[in-house]
Parts: sequence; structure tokens; C-alpha cells
Amino acid sequence: MKLIECNFIGCQEEATTDGYVYGHIRDSEDKDSFLKVSACDIHAKHDSFYPAKEK
Ligand SMILES: [Zn+2]
Repeated sequence: MKLIECNFIGCQEEATTDGYVYGHIRDSEDKDSFLKVSACDIHAKHDSFYPAKEK
């Protein structure tokens, strides 16, 4: 099984949680919106991270 890396910038931990962050894609002119990301245990607790589902 392939490991998924945490999507937070500068983080190389294994992602364990799917969810969303509120923000915009770098270099895009899009308005802020919810972006799908994967997060490690640490970043899953980050204030700006919203888990896709509570289990
Ligand atoms: Zn992380």
C-alpha cells in the first residue's frame, strides 16, 4: 500500500486523515474555498483543517 504524504507545506509525515482546508490555490486568482487535502495526525488537529468525516 502506497503511503500518502501530508499535504501541509513542509510536512513529510504520513497522511492519516482526509479533509479540507479553507484557502486558495497558490498562483490562482480563485476566491478562497475549501480544498481537499490529506493530513497527518499532527496537522489533522490544526485549526484550519476540517476532517471530511468523524469516525
Ligand atoms: Zn503534517
